[in-house]
Amino acid sequence: MARQFFVGGNFKMNGSVETIKKIIGYLNEAKLDPKTEVVIAPPALYLLLAREHLKPGLEVAAQNVFDKPNGAFTGEISVDQLKDSNITWTLLGHSERRVILQEDDVFVASKTKAALDGGIGVIFCCGESLEQRESGKTIDVVTSQLKAVKDKVADWSKIVIAYEPIWAIGTGKVASTEQAQEVHAAIRGWLKKEVSEKVAEETRIIYGGSVSEKNCKDLSKQTDIDGFLVGGASLKPAFVDIINSHL
Ligand code: PGA
Repeated sequence: MARQFFVGGNFKMNGSVETIKKIIGYLNEAKLDPKTEVVIAPPALYLLLAREHLKPGLEVAAQNVFDKPNGAFTGEISVDQLKDSNITWTLLGHSERRVILQEDDVFVASKTKAALDGGIGVIFCCGESLEQRESGKTIDVVTSQLKAVKDKVADWSKIVIAYEPIWAIGTGKVASTEQAQEVHAAIRGWLKKEVSEKVAEETRIIYGGSVSEKNCKDLSKQTDIDGFLVGGASLKPAFVDIINSHL
């Protein structure tokens, strides 16, 4: 079975009540490829607002979730609280959290397990720094981030893997179609060898890092690129063109 194309919008720490409503209004009115799964991730404060205004069929993701069920964890949000608010996805392991907030592979994997156990889908982000790429460590870095998940998780059906080279995020420096396809194919190969042929066949592997309405078409034609995780451009009307890049 063909993998369903998936486009996520990561608003990061951007937006206001007014601008988020505006983006959602635009998405609600636009003609979107009905075959593409669309998920937007506004800041936590606006999750409920987004769910209230976004039309049914489009989903909302948190940008993070904690790995404990409830209790004295100031500043955190639980999987049950997301479910209670009809938030069906979460991003995890974004490089900005791995680097700035020092989240390590094991912690990200533990949160991935908590989300999946609670029935929430996970957009699991992985990717290398420029230094790691230049020293030939890209595949090692990405597969060790994935291995931490494999050590904790058996069911991969609600995981979407987002390959996001750190050097391409917010820089305007998109990976070439060849560079992206090469890593996506390596991730799929790793899944086949380390998890199963079925998981390798069925798991969506999406690309993130300076995706725009200009570069999305070529990237979307690559065999192992099943969609995008879009940062900056998800706040603009161009997001619709990216959602429709597979048309
Ligand atoms: P960008 O961000 O599209 O602004 O490069 C992507 C991301 O960080 O998910």
